[in-house]
Amino acid sequence: MSDTDGSSNTSSDERAPLIVQLHQERKRLAEEIKQRRRAEELARCVIDCNLDAIVVVDESGAVIDWNLPAERVFGWNREAIIGRNIADTIIPQRHRDEHRHGMRNFVKSGGGTMLDRRLELTALRRSGEEFPIELMIAPTRTTRPWLFSACIRDISERNRLEERFRATVESAPTAMVMIDSTGGIVLVNAETEKLFGYSRDELLGQPVEMLVPNRYRPRHSEQRRDFFSHPEARRMGEGRDLYGLRKDGREFPVEIGLNPIETDEGLFVLGAVVDITERKRFEERMCRLNEELECRVRERTAALAQANEALELSNVELKQFAYVASHDLQAPLRGIAGFAQFLQMDYQGKLDGTADEYIGQIVDGAQRMQRLISDLLAYSRVESRARAFTPTDLAAVFDDAVSLLRAEIEEIGGEVTRGDLPIVVGDAAQLSQLFQNLIGNAIKYHSGDQPRVHVTSRRTCGEHTIAVQDNGIGIDSKHHERIFEIFRRLHTQEQYPGTGIGLAVCRRIVLRHGGRIWVESNTMNGSTFYFTVPERAD
Ligand code: ADP
Repeated sequence: MSDTDGSSNTSSDERAPLIVQLHQERKRLAEEIKQRRRAEELARCVIDCNLDAIVVVDESGAVIDWNLPAERVFGWNREAIIGRNIADTIIPQRHRDEHRHGMRNFVKSGGGTMLDRRLELTALRRSGEEFPIELMIAPTRTTRPWLFSACIRDISERNRLEERFRATVESAPTAMVMIDSTGGIVLVNAETEKLFGYSRDELLGQPVEMLVPNRYRPRHSEQRRDFFSHPEARRMGEGRDLYGLRKDGREFPVEIGLNPIETDEGLFVLGAVVDITERKRFEERMCRLNEELECRVRERTAALAQANEALELSNVELKQFAYVASHDLQAPLRGIAGFAQFLQMDYQGKLDGTADEYIGQIVDGAQRMQRLISDLLAYSRVESRARAFTPTDLAAVFDDAVSLLRAEIEEIGGEVTRGDLPIVVGDAAQLSQLFQNLIGNAIKYHSGDQPRVHVTSRRTCGEHTIAVQDNGIGIDSKHHERIFEIFRRLHTQEQYPGTGIGLAVCRRIVLRHGGRIWVESNTMNGSTFYFTVPERAD
C-alpha cells in the first residue's frame, strides 16, 4: 500500500508537467487548426473572387475544387460536380478519349503538351450547349499524387465580336490588311487579294513589307515601328508619294488609313488601302487641262486686248472722222442750201418747168443733207461734248424739251403731258436731247388719231424707269431691237422724213448714264419707249 501511496504521490507529481504539455499541445493544435481554417477560407475567397472559372481535378480527372464563376460558366454547382469526372461533364463527347489519353500520359511521364500554356478549346455546359473557352492548365509542382488546376474563360462573346469584325473587314469595299506588332500580316480581305494579286494564304503570316516596293521598305518599317509606339488613327498618302507593290511587280499609288486595334493578344494595326491610280490620273488630266485652259485664256486675252486696242484706235479715228466730216461739211452745205434757196426765190417761175423742178430738188436735197449732218454731229457729240453729271430735275428737262418741240407739236395738234418725274444725276443737255428725240418720234409717227404723248416715271430697285407712251402707229415686235441701230429706218422719206439716227443717239445717251433702253409696242396700241437711269450715277 505504502508503495502504492508512494508511487501514487510520485506519479501525480510526474504527470503534472505532462498534463501541462498536453494542454499546451492541444492549444497549439487548436491554434493551428484555426490558422489552417483561416488560410482555407482565404484561399476559398481568392478562388471564388475571380473573374475566370477555376477548376481543380485529381489524376483521375475527378473534380476536387470548383469556384463560383465555374458554377456560372458551366451551370454545375459545386456540390453537384465535386467528385464527378470532367471527362463525363464539361468535356464534349468527341474530345473525351483524347483527354483521358493525355492525362494518363502525363501521370506516367510527368510531361505533356497541354500544360502551362494558353489553349483555346470547346467545353460543354450542363445544358448540353457547347461553347468556346480559353484556358491554362497547371499541375501541382511539389505534392503527389498530381493535382491539376485550370483557369477557364468563356470566350463566346469575344469570338462573336471577332467574327463580326472579320465579316466587316471581309465585306469592306476597300483592301484591308491587319498586322501585328512585328509587321506580320494576320488578316486580309478579298479586296486585298484582288488589289495585290496574292491569295490569302500567300499573305497571312508574311511581313507586310512584301506589299511595299523595295526602295520604300526601310522607311516603311520605320514608320510601322513609329505607329506602334504612338498608336493613333492616321491617314497616309495624301500629298506625298506612297506606293503598293503587286505580286506581278507592278507598282501603284495608294492612300492608306491606319487604325490601332487593341486586343487581349496585344496591339494590331488595321490598314485600309485605296488604289488612287485613277484619281491621280484624273488629277493629272485636270491639271493639264487647267494649264491648257489657262494658256488658251492667256492667248485669247492677249488677242482680245490687241483687237480691242485696234478697235479703240479705229473707233477714235472713226469718231474724229465723223465729227470732222460732219463739222466741215456744214459750212459748204450751208452755202449750197442758201444759194439754192436764193435761186428758188429769185428765179422760180422765170425759167422753164424742168429748171424749177431741179431747183426744188437741190433745195430739198441740201436740206436733207443738213439734217443728216446735224444728226450725225449730235451722235458724235454724245461723247465729244459730254458734260459732267449733276443732279438734274427731269421735270424741268422734260419742259425744256417740249418747249423746243412746241412748233411741231402745235402744227400737228398733239398733246404732250407728264406725271411726276424724279431728280436724277446726269447730263441735263443730253437728257433733254433724249426727251426731244423720243417725244419728237412719238409725235412724228402718229396715226389718224390726235397724237397724245404721256411721260411717267417709276422707281424700281435702285433705278428710275421713265416711260414715253404714245398712241401712234406702233412698231412690229420683229423691229424692236433693230430700230436702235444707227441709220435703221422702217419708212421711206415720203412716208415719214428722218435720218435713222435719233434712237441711236438715245441709246448712246442712256448707256452713258448707266441705264438701258427698250420699246414695248404693237401696231394696234402705239408704242412705249422705256429708259432707266440709276438712282446714283457712278
Ligand atoms: P428716224 O425717226 O429719223 O427715222 P429714229 O432712229 O428716231 O430715226 O427711229 C428709227 C425708226 O424707228 C423710225 O424710222 C421709225 O420707223 C421707228 N420709230 C421710232 N419711234 C417711233 C414711234 N414712236 N412710233 C413708231 N415708230 C417709231
